[in-house]
Amino acid sequence: MTCKEAEQMVMPYINKELTDKELSAFLSHIHTCQDCYEELEIYYTIYTGLAQLEDGGEDQNIHRLLEESLRVSELQIRGRRFFNVYYVLSQVMAMAALAVIMVMEILKVLTDVL
Ligand SMILES: [Zn+2]
Repeated sequence: MTCKEAEQMVMPYINKELTDKELSAFLSHIHTCQDCYEELEIYYTIYTGLAQLEDGGEDQNIHRLLEESLRVSELQIRGRRFFNVYYVLSQVMAMAALAVIMVMEILKVLTDVL
């Protein structure tokens, strides 16, 4: 991912509009690119700062909020990836079971014929 692409994902990230794939690419860029991280932090500060003003909430450490948000995003991706692996495995198991049943049916037919 280029810095330009990452910059375009800053607002969608804050608005939670990125797909898992985009989010994953965005997060790994943010981790390796200080410029884009700072860009994200600026937008995040403005956005959450405004939201807090509207809420009348107390002044929180926005840097910590951003770190927390990034961590949650990563856990989400990791969680979904684990779920996908589990899903694929269960599909493979179902296919294998189906294959065994078909082979047994074919053997049954063959023994009837012979
Ligand atoms: Zn960058």
